[in-house]
Amino acid sequence: MPPSSSSPAAERARLGLHAECASCFGLCCVALAFTRSADFPIDKDAGEPCRNLRPDHRCGIHPDLRDRGFVGCTVYDCFGAGQKISGSTFAGQDWREHPEVRASMFALLPVLRHVHELLWYLTEAVALTERHGARDRTDRTDGSDGSDGSDRTDELGSHDPALTSDLRAAVDRVEHLSLGAPDDLLALDLDALRGSVNPLLLRASEGARARSAHQPRGRRAEHRGADLVGRRLAGADLRGASLRGALLVGADLHGADLRGADLVGADLRGTDLRGADLTDALFLTQTQIDAARGDSATLLPAGLEHPGHWGDAPPGPRGRAPRAVPPRGERRPRR
Ligand code: SF4
Repeated sequence: MPPSSSSPAAERARLGLHAECASCFGLCCVALAFTRSADFPIDKDAGEPCRNLRPDHRCGIHPDLRDRGFVGCTVYDCFGAGQKISGSTFAGQDWREHPEVRASMFALLPVLRHVHELLWYLTEAVALTERHGARDRTDRTDGSDGSDGSDRTDELGSHDPALTSDLRAAVDRVEHLSLGAPDDLLALDLDALRGSVNPLLLRASEGARARSAHQPRGRRAEHRGADLVGRRLAGADLRGASLRGALLVGADLHGADLRGADLVGADLRGTDLRGADLTDALFLTQTQIDAARGDSATLLPAGLEHPGHWGDAPPGPRGRAPRAVPPRGERRPRR
């Protein structure tokens, strides 16, 4: 009997991985430091409230963030860490009224954000392996895999029921950690945690890319952790490529074929994705897309949306209208 499955969206909703600014005490607007740059027009120390943060924890310039130079605010996603710290970890204590919790609360934001981001990736990995398991079961049932209907081990290692179990166990373990007390969370060894999760994500990625419908004729490109800042890759065939952790800041991927590519942790700030095909790209987050440049011809994986700042474009080829401006408006309803 296969384990029950749920969509990544439902699982992420259950785990609270979507930022709900209305349930947060504006933590990202206080806890994080700004450096005057293309992302922020001002310097701000960590722990210092942003000058635009109102007493009710809403942003005073939310509709104009990009126009006022606060681009960094529009591409930040706490993955739900802010509301968990505000409502659960600190049981609704507002840092304005409880100065004794300020330091811990603010220190916790980057820690819990990291934990929630790992949970986000794990939910995608679970969905990938479940999808492949379901496909294998269908193949065995109708004999379309050419087998006699008995169990098989895919030579590419993609049919791996144990991996789904391991991923589910990791979700439970990381979720449990995320619900810990402030001191326990602050004492977390994030490198060790990431090190325990990454091999599972890698196995899920390799299995998915090995059996992807978007297989290149030759070898899949391997750019894991590569420095591709500003690189001209327009029109490149990057189907099924590994771009895990790659630095693609300002790179030209105009018209590139990135179907089925693994983009976990890739830095896409200012990356030109106009006309690029990212159908079925793995581990791609809305934050990465928000930080890139694109247009109505850019194809995105299911569940991701065209940011409003990509222009007043007509509905894209997949029939999805660009997201309303400001890009993160629906996730920052109070600001
Ligand atoms: S969202 Fe608004 S209040 Fe928050 S840091 Fe950005 S500009 Fe400041």
